[in-house]
Amino acid sequence: MSVIARVSIVLFELPLKKSVSDAKVLTGRQRPLGSVSVLAATIADSEGNEGLGFSYCLRAGAQGMYAHARELAPELIGEDPADIARIWNKLVWMGASVGRSGTAVQAIAAFDTALWDLKARRAGLPLSKLLGAFRDSVPCYNTSGGYLQAPIEEVLEKADRSLASGIGGVKIKVGQPDRALDLRRVEALRAHLGDSVPIMIDVNQQWDRATAARMCDALDRQGLAWIEEPLDAYDIEGHARLSASTLTPIGSGEMLSSVAEHAAYIATRRGWAASRPSCAWRPWPIRPTWPSPRIS
Ligand SMILES: [Mg+2]
Repeated sequence: MSVIARVSIVLFELPLKKSVSDAKVLTGRQRPLGSVSVLAATIADSEGNEGLGFSYCLRAGAQGMYAHARELAPELIGEDPADIARIWNKLVWMGASVGRSGTAVQAIAAFDTALWDLKARRAGLPLSKLLGAFRDSVPCYNTSGGYLQAPIEEVLEKADRSLASGIGGVKIKVGQPDRALDLRRVEALRAHLGDSVPIMIDVNQQWDRATAARMCDALDRQGLAWIEEPLDAYDIEGHARLSASTLTPIGSGEMLSSVAEHAAYIATRRGWAASRPSCAWRPWPIRPTWPSPRIS
């Protein structure tokens, strides 16, 4: 039987070409984002197959995630790499005293995705086929279509480039203190792209309930594909009320990291638009910031 023979992890910092600002920066809660921290895990089995997985972190928290992963890594040695759910469960119990969400499970995610990559490679299949594919392609959108530091002219130009490259939709940031400016930017993008291109907006949790109700009402006529994180990520009741009172689908979940947190949203029995994944990765220069321990 094949077993896990080697595990290595490394923490990278990926600097962005330009720092970006979402609404949390304009409301004074965060500084502009200049880099993304990525925890990468490589898992090799006794037959020489390798899988690569990763998890990421913005601003603070990456060193804690790395430290937690480093403690867990030896626990994978000797396990059957096909037993992904059992291994996840084992690692969660190892860190039970620090909880089942946040850093604790984000550290495990690097191993979890590496194990799925390894399983697909051993099977000689793309991961989508291993899981049971239904279609050959999916619609995608540019999640970095318009951060708030970018003037609207730059946002429109970037939208054109996204569509020309085959990306089907464009998401822009809103949620800045000047609500009228938010509305003008969305209107300008809709006027530029026409009615048939999916447009999404991301508030990054910066509206209160009253503002969200007013803005969603004003934005309904724009035919948005969804409005993402209009309220604090943990204001489940607020999201449920907003979803009931607006025509535009409401998206949330990006900040949640546990089954229990997602289950609380699902329990409201509202139709949630699952917000996510990014299709805008670019080949930024990679700068390792932490050594790569090898545990074997
Ligand atoms: Mg988002």
